[in-house]
Amino acid sequence: MPAASVMPVTDVDTPLDAPRAFASADTLTRSEMLLAPVCWPRPSRLREPLRAPTKKASAGLQALGLHTVGDLLEHLPRDSREARTVAELRVGEQATVAVEVRSIAARPVRKRGMRPLVEAWVADATGAMRAVFFNQPWLVEKYPEGTRLVLHGKAGQRGDFGVAHHAVGTELGVAQDAPPADARAIVAHYPATEGVSSTQILTLMQGSRGALADVVEPLPAALRSSERLPDRAAALTAMHFPERAEEVEAGRERVAFEELLLTQLVFLRRRARRRALTGAPVLNEPPAWSARWLEQGLPFTLTHGQQSAITTIEADLARPCPMQRLLMGEVGSGKTVVALWAMLRAVEHGRQAALMAPTETLAEQHFATVQRLLGGEQLACALLTGSTKATRRADTLGKLESGELQLIVGTHALIEPDVRFRSLAVAVVDEQHRFGVRQRAALEDKDPTHPAHVLHMTATPIPRTLALSEHGDLDVTALRELPHGRRPIRTRLIAGERSRARAYEHLREQLQEGRQAYVVCPLVEEAQADGAAALVGEGGPPGEGDLRAATAEVERLSHGELKGHKLMLLHGQMRSKEKQEAMAKFAAGEVDVLVATTVIEVGVDVPNATVMLVENAERFGISQLHQLRGRVGRGEHASTCLLVGPPGAARLRALAEHTDGFRLAEIDLELRKEGELIGTRQSGLGQFRVACLPDDAELLEGARRQAEWIVDRDPELKAPEHQLLGEALDDTFGAEAFEPIPA
Ligand code: ADP
Ligand code: MG
Repeated sequence: MPAASVMPVTDVDTPLDAPRAFASADTLTRSEMLLAPVCWPRPSRLREPLRAPTKKASAGLQALGLHTVGDLLEHLPRDSREARTVAELRVGEQATVAVEVRSIAARPVRKRGMRPLVEAWVADATGAMRAVFFNQPWLVEKYPEGTRLVLHGKAGQRGDFGVAHHAVGTELGVAQDAPPADARAIVAHYPATEGVSSTQILTLMQGSRGALADVVEPLPAALRSSERLPDRAAALTAMHFPERAEEVEAGRERVAFEELLLTQLVFLRRRARRRALTGAPVLNEPPAWSARWLEQGLPFTLTHGQQSAITTIEADLARPCPMQRLLMGEVGSGKTVVALWAMLRAVEHGRQAALMAPTETLAEQHFATVQRLLGGEQLACALLTGSTKATRRADTLGKLESGELQLIVGTHALIEPDVRFRSLAVAVVDEQHRFGVRQRAALEDKDPTHPAHVLHMTATPIPRTLALSEHGDLDVTALRELPHGRRPIRTRLIAGERSRARAYEHLREQLQEGRQAYVVCPLVEEAQADGAAALVGEGGPPGEGDLRAATAEVERLSHGELKGHKLMLLHGQMRSKEKQEAMAKFAAGEVDVLVATTVIEVGVDVPNATVMLVENAERFGISQLHQLRGRVGRGEHASTCLLVGPPGAARLRALAEHTDGFRLAEIDLELRKEGELIGTRQSGLGQFRVACLPDDAELLEGARRQAEWIVDRDPELKAPEHQLLGEALDDTFGAEAFEPIPA
């Protein structure tokens, strides 16, 4: 007897969807048959096209990317709201109510062209009202007395409720029996669009509810039980048709976990793949030059953090697998020294090294640092930026390709296709978060057969949640301490004229003692200001709250509060040469005060500068202000950061209270998330469909743990219990998820 006929198959008409093991049924062993599921999902049902009630709705569904029943079930509610009760409705209010029909009738249409109306008396436990439906005379038949409905609409003047959208409630999780007065129906609200409303989507969802049984469960049973997660179908049911509020969250967490697990699997597989790669230059000669430089070339001793980062990187570079390490360190923690050391390691092996920075100012600064720090060493080093002259550029490119140049420092100009290296061994990307993924990759892949070792650096501290979610495939090293002898920067909030006057006083005192200062403005020129408000008081000092412009401020201060001191302007729109000159003069101490925009945010390093005054500080983000503040406090003198802004701004308070960048980044994340809720989406956080960081940090940790466990044991996801997971990965990330890991 063919095995198929004895298998408890509930759905024999779709054999193609049956798990592969069952496709050739006559080869099944007895034990496989015993393992056969009593019924299995019938994914073909999920692939059925979605049937929309109207043409308009059909267009709307298309626009939302909903083509099949499966798509629909994956269209998750934006939120779920408890329905309002009839007694609570206020005139003019838009609301959703869950009610029962007491009576229903069409109102006769008296005039031609008048819209046919259906009126129903509807009630919940708190009261009754008259619901009015427009243009749908058939509803009289469809919603007989006793039908439980979910209505969305607007409460009108005379106790009417004008219905915009409606759906039968019984299948929406609205209890069959009349609920007790305090229990409320919970109604899912969906992202909707023109042509199809949230309530219409809910109605469609209702019609497709049966297909939830066909939803595939990608998570292995053991994982689900150890993480205490419901199965996928149950989670979706809870989200679409909640009976209790807690269910919605449990369902959401289940879906979020899966999402996080899949991304971690991709990251970890990518990392495993990278770790299995070879072909990177093996830099394993005993250190000579680099060691001598560390011992004799530096005017200071390394911090523990720098030392251990160097040890780690030394081991990375000695392997044929290309390094991909993120060096994360507080502003001023001394990342550059670590980077330069890694670059010297390349050079002492007869190879080349490159350092890429996001701005010209920073590249120039790095170039100067390289020359200063490597003062005693004979090294061929060049600078390449967007404003490098053509003849110079051609010469530099030639020397890079011949190998004559050992070190190069530059901007994005380094990743132009015609920039070729003879043998690039170490590439450093400073302020890596300022570059796109592709730009970073372009540098690594300069020579595809011999990938370079890459050190990514960032001074924007990344909380662990973000590190896992965005940089899950990099190895991470953190420099958590500042060099010895640094004095913490005091941060003061300046609000109002009196405290502004005191701020200038402090600034003048510092200048008198021979120190230098920065004044940072949000704008380059006044014309940039949005709205006329910023121009009020032209000629005189701008009023409180007006946006200050660097060009105007440098004029104003040199004739006003800072008269007699040498002031200079620095902003991004200046010509590269002018910027260079301004920086050089400031660094040499010829200029007392640099009046600048945020061009100085990264990298600028003048230890004698001890005061920074930031105008309109409320206009900047926490991380940005923290970076800016890091421009002072870089030498032996005590430094101050003066933030001018409205009193009570949460971000500014956080900066005044905390100096730890990691803590600030966490606060930033929390505040930004609140910002998201009111509509200002920021990059980096909105990448997940369901998961929400940092709230779901715990889920993320769990997902990371499970992903590590899986990738360690079954990197190709070949084990039977991982097969559906592999398919989900493939569906979500496509081919990239499944490039094999070389043995
Ligand atoms: P960042 O991590 O912000 O890039 P830098 O590498 O620019 O920091 O270093 C900040 C300043 O600290 C520089 O002037 C650098 O020369 C100095 N520095 C670096 N390491 C040490 C150290 N171990 N002790 C004292 N000063 C140091
Ligand atoms: Mg730096």
